Parts: sequence; structure tokens; C-alpha cells
Amino acid sequence: MSSLNKLRLLHQAQKNQWLKPSELEELQTKKLRSIVKHAYENTEFYHKKFKAAGIHPDDIRTLNDLSKIPFTTKEELRQQTLESRVSRGLDLSQCHVTETSGSTGIPLKIVYDEAADDFSKAINLRSHTENGLKLRSRWAVFGDPHHYQKPRWFQKLRIFNPIQISVFEPIEKQIDTLSKFKPEVLDGYTSSIRLLAEAVEKNDIKDINPKVVFGTSELLDPDTRKYINSVFDVEMIDHFGCVELNRTAWECGEHAGYHIDVDAVVMEFISDGEAADPGERGEIVYTGLYNYAMPLIRYSIEDVGVPSDEVCPCGRGLPLMKLIEGRSDSFMQIPDGRIFSPIIWTLIMRQIPGVGQFKAIQERKDLIRVLVVRDQAFTEAAAGQIVHDVQEVMGEGIHVDVEVVEEIQKEPSGKVRCAVSKVGRAI
Ligand SMILES: [Zn+2]
Repeated sequence: MSSLNKLRLLHQAQKNQWLKPSELEELQTKKLRSIVKHAYENTEFYHKKFKAAGIHPDDIRTLNDLSKIPFTTKEELRQQTLESRVSRGLDLSQCHVTETSGSTGIPLKIVYDEAADDFSKAINLRSHTENGLKLRSRWAVFGDPHHYQKPRWFQKLRIFNPIQISVFEPIEKQIDTLSKFKPEVLDGYTSSIRLLAEAVEKNDIKDINPKVVFGTSELLDPDTRKYINSVFDVEMIDHFGCVELNRTAWECGEHAGYHIDVDAVVMEFISDGEAADPGERGEIVYTGLYNYAMPLIRYSIEDVGVPSDEVCPCGRGLPLMKLIEGRSDSFMQIPDGRIFSPIIWTLIMRQIPGVGQFKAIQERKDLIRVLVVRDQAFTEAAAGQIVHDVQEVMGEGIHVDVEVVEEIQKEPSGKVRCAVSKVGRAI
């Protein structure tokens, strides 16, 4: 596909947001029928699943018909081979393959082909451009160096071209890079942005003045939002999503909730097996509408949200959801004064073979317990590697106890938290 065509995808995504809700529903229904049919005809997993449930793609005509299809759980996907979950004949060497973090379970391989990746990037850029990102903005993104990718189509055009800041770098180095770069747009893990804001305030740094700050709602509690807003004198824009489906909802400048990307996903909120009412908490269940390489139909991500029937004052047709707030006691401060954001755990543990779910608990400033739900690939060596990798990041003075457990409890909110500190920290 030419780059021009890809820019057209972005243009189309920008247009879609202003469609009327009824027009968006029509578009969504059309895409739903198509992906359901594709999944049934081209993946072994969904073919069998539909057969076992006694349903045929022709039974799925409307969004309401979706409820006829049983949920797809992570556990179920884990038991499949990758080949049975992706489309027949897919050339994996031409695909973009990532893994889920493991904070909510054993990592899963997620496959996007080029077309899905292009579409996903266009959807992602939509919220950025709507909130102030320009073609040639100086844009800095906090990321995981393990996941730096080759330049994207739009970056080859030298537009929408961010620099990457590794979250593993010491804060001083991040500040040094950003002071020189002078980002207009700051983007990435909310926890990393919070740590940056704290350092900027503490050291009275004048050179980092983004006009727009985007966070991913790994952890956005009201205090963190207020704090980041006050340090950078912005109204930060929060994003929501997951590794499997990328960005799925976002805030506009009105901050009335999160606009759901309904031209990319169907997002259901399920409470006791039924659709949750507006304002009621429900487990999020996704149907992806564009990834024909690895379809996900009624996929439960084990996260919680609240559907909303409010209309956003901005006038966009994309419907709204609300989020359950995160908590800020996931940061860990160690004896040398450094503070680590919870995302560190996800990034470290993703590299360890055989780790299912995990949770890191800071018991004392210098003592961290790492609870691990193991799968077959987990070995003594993997436990040793966890200790090694954590000490490499935090220093050898930190004691790390790895404990294999049967299960990790969810929080009362329904969320799984991968990191909790029982030690207060100085800001
Ligand atoms: Zn809005």
C-alpha cells in the first residue's frame, strides 16, 4: 500500500469520529459481520468455537446478535497453538508480533499484519491529532527499548516522528535528553510522566514545556492527573487500551469520559453475564474489527470499565465510557532515593520465560517480594533471572524474594495490580 493510502486511513478515521451515532453503528455492524465471517472461515480456533456453540456467522446480523457468541478468555487462547488462532496461510515473518505483559496472566503472542498495523496506527493518531499533535511536532514517547520498532510508514515520510525515551534510563538522563529536545508533545506511560514531572518540579527545570501531554491509563488517579497538569501547565489527555487491541478509547479536550473507537472495536461491558447498564461497572469484552490476521471475537481482557450514555459536548459521535480510577501506591522508592514506576515490572517480567501472572510487593525499602504464578516453562533459573534483572535495574542492595504462588488476588476494583508498595515515599 502506498503511503498516500495510509494517510487516507488517518483522514478516514478523522472523518468517522464526526459521524452520527446511528451511522457509526451501521459502520460497526458492517465491519462486525465481515470479521465474524472471516474468523469462522479462516481460523481453526473460531471455526471450532462457533461449531461447538451451534452458531453460524449468518446468525450475527446486528450488534445485539453478538451476545449469541460465547466469550473468548485469555486462558482459552493460551491453550491454543498460535497457528490455530491466526488466519490460515498467514506469513508470520511479514507480521508484527508482540506479547501481552503478563501482569494479568501468562503472556500471549499477539499478531498484526501490515494492513491491521496501518489501520491501528491511524486510529491511534486520530486522538493525537485531535488533541494537538501536528505533522511535525517535536514528540517524545516513553517506551520500552525491547519494543522499539523499525520506523513506521508515516515516520519514513518524516511526519509524526517521535523520539523514544527508554523508561529504563535514569531520570537524569531522561531529563537531559528532553531538555535538549524540548518536546512540544509528551506521550507514554502515565507513571513515567509522573516521575518526570516530579523531577522537573524538584530540580526547577525550565526547558521541558510540552504543550500537550498524553498518558496511557495504566494508573491515572485524580491526584496524578492534577499533579502532572500543574507541573506542565497543561490538561493532560488520557488514553485507554490494551496490547491485544491497541488504543481503544481516548479523551477529547472536554474530559467528559473516554471516546470509544467504535470503528475499530466493539466494546461491551458485562456484569453477571449481561450487558451492564450505563453508569454500572462491567468487565470489558472486545471484538476487534480490523485485525484479520488474528481475529478476537468477544475477548475478555479482565479489565473493568463503565459504559456511559452521556453525550460529549464536543459533538463527536464516538460514544463515551468511564474508567475505574487507578491508585498511586504502585510506585516504589528505594534507599538511594530513586523512584520506580510500576511499568518497570511489566517490562522486566515480560522477558522472563514461564511467568504467568505476577505481582511485586515492596515490603521494606530494600525488600521486594515477587509473587509469580508459573507455567510449565518456569524454572529455578527463571527465578534467578528475576532476581538478577531487578537488581540490575534497582541495584544489588535490593533483596528480591521470588515466591511461586497458585493465584494472585484481584483488587476490590476488579483490577489486577502488578506492583504495590507498602512503604511510603518522599516526593
Ligand atoms: Zn468529546
